[in-house]
Amino acid sequence: MNKIEHIGIAVKDLDVSNNLYTQLLGILPYKMEVVESERVNTSFFKTGPNKIELLQATDENSAIAKFIAKRGEGVHHIAFAVDDIVAEMNRLRDKGFILLNEKPKKGADNKLVAFVHPKSSNGVLIELCQEIDNKD
Ligand code: ZN
Repeated sequence: MNKIEHIGIAVKDLDVSNNLYTQLLGILPYKMEVVESERVNTSFFKTGPNKIELLQATDENSAIAKFIAKRGEGVHHIAFAVDDIVAEMNRLRDKGFILLNEKPKKGADNKLVAFVHPKSSNGVLIELCQEIDNKD
């Protein structure tokens, strides 16, 4: 894995949290995007080389809605950039990690993504992401 690509934070109200993080970081989000497959509205902030993703559920069946119902707002996942997501998924599967996806899927911010179950990574949901333009 190359680096931490971003940290995902589950929020109840994206507008409220966009304002909050704009004040906190002193910058505006550089991107807002609805990800239908994940049932989330997202926004991204960039501080230096680092990114923060805010995620708000678009409906009650979203994983973000369930996460907030159970644990409240807060850090939801850590995403790592990888060059070859399929190879990385196979490597982790071989080592006994539980993957939440059979295959990579299209995520926010022009990425292919896949998730590692928090059960296999000390309670932390891990996202693998590969920039789509890199390889295709
Ligand atoms: Zn993410």
